[in-house]
Amino acid sequence: MITTAQVQPTKSPDRSILRERGQREVFCGLTGIVWLHRKMQDAFFLVIGSRTCAHLLQSAAGVMIFAEPRFATAIIDDRDLAGLANADDEVERMVAEVVQRRPNLRLLFLVGSCPSEVIKLDLSRIAARLDSRMSPKVRVLNYSGSGIETTFTQGEDACLEALVGSLCAAPSDAHPNLLVVGALADVVEDQFRRYFNAMGIERVSFLPSRRLDDLPEVGPSTRYLLAQPFLAQTSAALERRGANRIDALFPLGAEGTTSWLMAAAQALHIPSHRARAVIEGPAARARAVVDRWRSDLEGKRVFFFPDSQLEVPLARFLTRELGVKPVEIGTPYLHRAHLAQELALIPDDSVISEGQDVERQLERCRRARPDITVCGLGLANPLEAEGLTTKWSIELLFTPIHGYEQAGDLAALFQRPLDRQSRLKV
Ligand code: SF4
Repeated sequence: MITTAQVQPTKSPDRSILRERGQREVFCGLTGIVWLHRKMQDAFFLVIGSRTCAHLLQSAAGVMIFAEPRFATAIIDDRDLAGLANADDEVERMVAEVVQRRPNLRLLFLVGSCPSEVIKLDLSRIAARLDSRMSPKVRVLNYSGSGIETTFTQGEDACLEALVGSLCAAPSDAHPNLLVVGALADVVEDQFRRYFNAMGIERVSFLPSRRLDDLPEVGPSTRYLLAQPFLAQTSAALERRGANRIDALFPLGAEGTTSWLMAAAQALHIPSHRARAVIEGPAARARAVVDRWRSDLEGKRVFFFPDSQLEVPLARFLTRELGVKPVEIGTPYLHRAHLAQELALIPDDSVISEGQDVERQLERCRRARPDITVCGLGLANPLEAEGLTTKWSIELLFTPIHGYEQAGDLAALFQRPLDRQSRLKV
C-alpha cells in the first residue's frame, strides 16, 4: 500500500544549521547551458563573456569544433573593455548572424557572465529591443550565468525565471493544470507524463518545454511541482504569476517519486485509489532494484560538499533507501520551505551546513574519513590523492536520475566509486 503518510519525519523542522561564509569552490551558472541546450531543441544560448567562459563551455559540453552547437560565446575583448567598440551593436550583429544561420531557431538567450557584469553591459535592454523587433518569429530573453555569487545550478534557475516572464496568462476561468518545473531528460519527462495521464491528469506541461510552442499558459489555475530543489527564483516568479506550489519530496528514489506523484494527484483532486493503482507496480519495482545495491552501500558514511543543491534530497534517498549514513550534508543554499519535507527525514546526527568555508570543511572531511565524498571537480582530485573516494556532484545533473525507472541507476552512481576503489586496492 502506498500513501504519502508513509513519509515519517525523524527530526523536528527547527534543527540547527551550520552556516559558513568563506572561500567557495563551485562552478558558475554557465554550466547549465550544457543540459539546457539539449533539452530546449529550438533555443540558442549566446554567452557574452571572455575566453575563459568559452573554454568552460567547450570543455564541459565536449563539443567538436566542426559540430554546430546551439550555444556560442561572443568574446568581450580589449576594445570593448576600453569602451572603443559599441557593445550593443556588436551583440546585435552576432544575434543577426546566429538567426540567419539557423532558420529553425525560435528562442535566443543572451547570457550574461562575470565580464559582462563587470563592464555593466545591460543585456536586458538589448534583449528587450531585439525581442520587440524579432518576436514572434524568434523570442529573445536574457539571464545571468555569472560566477559572481552563484553556484552552477543557479544558471538553470535564472534561465527558467526568464522563461516564466514570457509565458502567456491563463484565463481566470481556466481548468486546473499541472506544471512540472525543472529540466528533465526527455525519457524521464515521457515517463512522468504517462503516469500523470494514467492517473487522469491530462493537462500537464513541463518547464522548460522541448519547443517554444509547447510552453504553457500560467495563472491562478496552475499548480506546479518542482522537479529540482534549486529553483527558488523560478518558483517566486511563478507565484507572482498566481501559480501555487505543490509541496512534496523531490522525485529521487522510490519514496521521493511516490511522494511527488501522490502530492500532484491530491492537488488535482484525483482519487487516491486511482493514483495508487497507477504507481504501486513501478514503485515496488524501483524499491526492488534499489535494494540490489543495499549490501554494497549500507552502513557507508557519505560527506557532501556544497555544490549542486541536490545534496539534501540525495542524502534523504541514500539514508532511507540504502542505509547510508550522511556525516555532513553541505549545500550552497538551503531553501527551508522547499526542503521542509526532506529536512524532516534527515537523521538527527547528520550535520547540515549551508554556504562554505572550504578550508574548514576540508578539515572536517579529513577528520571524518567518509567512505564516499560527493564534491565538485576542483576538490575531487586532491581528495583522491589523500586516499578519499569521491563522486563528482556535476554527474548528477548530466545523468537521468529522477523517477522510478532511474532509481536503480541513482543508487549505482554511489556504488561505482566504491567499486572502483576496491578494484584499485586488489
Ligand atoms: S562566467 Fe565568470 S566564472 Fe563563469 S567561466 Fe565566465 S568568467 Fe569564469
